[in-house]
Amino acid sequence: MVRPDWLVPMERPPIHQGFLVLRHNQIQYLGQDLPNQFENVTQTRLADYAILPGLINSHCHLEFSDLAEPISAEDSFASWIQSVIRHRATAVPSPSERMSLRRAAIDRGITESYQCGVRWIVDMTTSPWQAEWVETSVLAITKSARSSAKHTWSPDIPISVQPCMELVDVNETRLEQTRSFADSHFESQAQQQARLSPLGRFGLAPHSPYTASIELTRWSQRKSFEQRRLVAMHLAESLDEMQWIEKQDGPFEGLMRPFLNARYWSGLGSVTEHLDCLSRSWRSLVVHGNYLTDSELAYLGLAFEKMAIVHCPRTHTHFGHGHSMGHSMNARYPMHERMQMGVRHFLGTDSRASNPNLNLWSEAQSVRATQSEVSSWDILRMITTDPAEFLQLPGGIGRIQEGSQAGLTAVKLNKNKAATIYDCLLSPETTTQPLEKVLLSEPIASAASEIEKLR
Ligand SMILES: [Zn+2]
Repeated sequence: MVRPDWLVPMERPPIHQGFLVLRHNQIQYLGQDLPNQFENVTQTRLADYAILPGLINSHCHLEFSDLAEPISAEDSFASWIQSVIRHRATAVPSPSERMSLRRAAIDRGITESYQCGVRWIVDMTTSPWQAEWVETSVLAITKSARSSAKHTWSPDIPISVQPCMELVDVNETRLEQTRSFADSHFESQAQQQARLSPLGRFGLAPHSPYTASIELTRWSQRKSFEQRRLVAMHLAESLDEMQWIEKQDGPFEGLMRPFLNARYWSGLGSVTEHLDCLSRSWRSLVVHGNYLTDSELAYLGLAFEKMAIVHCPRTHTHFGHGHSMGHSMNARYPMHERMQMGVRHFLGTDSRASNPNLNLWSEAQSVRATQSEVSSWDILRMITTDPAEFLQLPGGIGRIQEGSQAGLTAVKLNKNKAATIYDCLLSPETTTQPLEKVLLSEPIASAASEIEKLR
């Protein structure tokens, strides 16, 4: 049993010094009062901690988790992409080394995310990739979480990854490669469905309007609709992209032209066309969407049950995107204005190629610091209950639910005073960890003595 300063289930009011009973790797009870049946359960008092549902990172590229620092984006978005491609090429001397470097990067990304209290990652995945790599990484985390004798509780699956297979068709070769990459993984997951796995249902990721034709997005949409798969797509991210899509010139020209063939030119779709196509999929995540027009945003607002924007705050800052607000350009992402239009928002870290780390909590704190009109409750929902409901995550992930095995996130509070517990949580210097890691370091008191102390 755990008694933190605050239990914050999000779907019901926060509970001050309430009780959370964890037994047989399950949440058995949460509430303000302790029912008689649990009176003799040993308990840990977590002073200065709050417990939240497990955090959900709605956009990431784990494969870049080996980068010590972000790749500079000072020149242009196109030059940043060029540097990313160069990084991939120089870091891979041979196919076998490429596999092991990739595997190590993914492992590092999963471990780093877990240590920050993240429990679910929507990952954009490219070849080479193997389901077994993720399973091995998560198994190692599970074993280490259970290695201590005094440790009473940890979820069976401490962190899950939902891969969205990246699809690119700048030419025939890439089209064949990426479609067979996606299909082979869909098939292998269908055969293994009965196994307990830390892998969420595989999704599709037509990469962006400059790398995926409208035909490829349609193909993804059909698969998504028929097989209830998530689609994620970078859309309207940068001005360079918009210039290329609308006028076929600008900084993307030198980057794209060497790869392209006639098929590409005939299949280049506008942002509106891709958006329209995504709206007919089972669920879709519009990643970034910085330069969507008002009519496209209104459309997203109407389709909020099936579509959401994933905003990556620190990546947004890295690229210094601006937004037209009336007659002036503003560096602040217009989150409040877009929410007023009904547009649903989740948060993501994007990758270490544009972000110093994969700490999702820092993204939420960054939104808190820059978006004064958005409530802390709304920001917390963007990384917990809202994506959990939208993505229909299994096993109570993103929620605190009786009967669930889902992992929970502990927030170390600071002494700052704030108007609400939600504001307090997101104030600077609070930090997050998986609950089981905090329990490992806290002494367990016997039930009687501890309850005595609390009285
Ligand atoms: Zn991305």
